[in-house]
This record gives sequence, structure tokens and C-alpha cells, in this order.
Amino acid sequence: MSSISLPAGLPILPRRDQHSHKGTFGRALLIGGSVGMAGSISLSARACLKGGAGLVTVAVPDAILDTVATFDAAYMTWPLPTDRSGHLPFHAKSKISEKLEHADCVAIGPGLGQSRGLFFLVNDLVDRFSGPMVIDADGLNLVAQRAEKTEPFAAPRVLTPHLGEFRRLVGKPQLTMEEATASAIEFADKRKCVLVLKGSQTLVTDGTRQWKNPTGNPGLATGGSGDVLTGLTTAMLAQRLSVYDAAVLAVYLHGLAADLAVQETSQPGLTASDLLDFLESALCQYT
Ligand code: AMP
Ligand code: MG
Repeated sequence: MSSISLPAGLPILPRRDQHSHKGTFGRALLIGGSVGMAGSISLSARACLKGGAGLVTVAVPDAILDTVATFDAAYMTWPLPTDRSGHLPFHAKSKISEKLEHADCVAIGPGLGQSRGLFFLVNDLVDRFSGPMVIDADGLNLVAQRAEKTEPFAAPRVLTPHLGEFRRLVGKPQLTMEEATASAIEFADKRKCVLVLKGSQTLVTDGTRQWKNPTGNPGLATGGSGDVLTGLTTAMLAQRLSVYDAAVLAVYLHGLAADLAVQETSQPGLTASDLLDFLESALCQYT
């Protein structure tokens, strides 16, 4: 495998002190999944582990818990109720709260689906959790459905929309990628968050700073690759990077893993599960 030269100025992951323990690298809580969508939140959780989070808990509807648990022995699972349509109901809130107290960071959205109960549940969590949070996929779609869309977020938030999700966030279905770039910077500034506008050259912005990702390739255009990015970003937050630095480093390493992967596989053959296998190689090149 040939090595790839790294650009200067990338955020640095804290060195692992000789006497560090798993608590040092953070407790991450990932919330998502629904019946038929067990894979996405599992990919996120596996990426979170691979990215170096100390302890990872996946909170999912109990109907898919066993499936999620079998994907990896290294994360913990936390059963939440399942409603009749296979989603989390609003009353999952109290069981989530028990875990939220012990979480250093949270990711919400992959595989969640959408329902009225989830609308209230997700928006309540987004407003209430005081630590850093990654919001992705249906988490974004549920945030987008709020009537009062202009309030700044009250705590550190990373939003990771692709173009379609971003269009829904700003309520502009026709937005081109070029228009979305300007709009993303404005959004991050107004809403006081980090916006990751995903595409072939992902943009990370906090409204003041902007960074364009040089890594990645069309092999990433496959189901689940965004879920891997969500977990990796959460891992960076668990290791105490700021929301901006966490997003930049995760996006960079995610693309680098894909670039390393296609040296050994092919772009059409790259799957999100393969990508997980190359996260370690990406971290090796980086550290
Ligand atoms: P999602 O659509 O949520 O699964 O996210 C897809 C992920 O793959 C994002 O991180 C995108 O930036 C990345 N991606 C998709 N297509 C490409 C492409 N043509 N080149 C580079 N990265 C891509
Ligand atoms: Mg996605």
C-alpha cells in the first residue's frame, strides 16, 4: 500500500498517555435504528469504536437490539421501546435520559425513520443535551420539520447533511450544490453550529471558518458511508476535539480510508463495511 502525503494544519488527536484508561477517551451514546434499518446505526457505532472512542453504547428499539448486538461485540447496547411501526416512540425519552446523564457526546439519526413521536423525541434531545452532538440522516429531517428554524443551537452541534438533507433543512428544494455552499456558511453562522455539507468535496464550516476536504472518491457513493462518517465524528468528539476540529478530522480520515481502500479493492466494489476496515489504515497514516 502506498502512503499518502498529509496536508499541514489538520487537527491533532490527543496523544494516548501511558496511564490513560477507556474513560479518558470518552463515553459515546449513539441513538438510531428502526425495524429494517439496523445496519446504519451499527455502522456508526463500529466507526465510533474504530475512531478511538473509549466506550460506545448504541441505544435502539428493542425489536432490533439482538441484530445490532451481533454486529460487534465491543459496543454496549441499550434497549428502548419500539412502536407499532417499528420506530422509537416519544416515551423512549425517559430510558434515553438514563444513559444521557453518563454520555460525553451523542449521535442521533442513522436509521431512525420518521414519525410524529420521533419529531418530538429528537427535537427534545437536540434542545436538552448540553454536550456535543452529531445530527445526521432522519435526525436532520426531523430537525428540519420544526417551525421555528432560525434559533441558534444551545449546545455544540455538528450537522452532517448531504445536498438533499440540506435542501430540507433550509426549505429550498431546488438549491444547487454551489448555492448550497454559500447557504451552508450562512446557516452555520446563524444557527451557531458546525455544518458538514457532504458531497464529492465535502465542506466543513462553522460560519466563520471553511474547509474543503481533499480526500475521498466516488467509491463512497454507496449506502452506509455517511453512517460511518457520523460514528467517526462522534469518536473525535469523545476524544475531546472541538466540534469544528472533530468534523474536519473525521471527514478527512473518512475520505482517506476510502482512498486507501480503492488501492486494494475497486470503487464499485467499496462498501461501507469495507470502509470500516480501512479506518485503521487511515489512522495509521495520520498518526
Ligand atoms: P450519505 O449520503 O449520508 O451516505 O453520505 C455519503 C458520504 O460519501 C459522504 O461523506 C460524502 O461526502 C461521500 N461521497 C459520496 N459521493 C462521493 C464522491 N463522488 N466523492 C467523494 N465522496 C463522496
Ligand atoms: Mg446519510
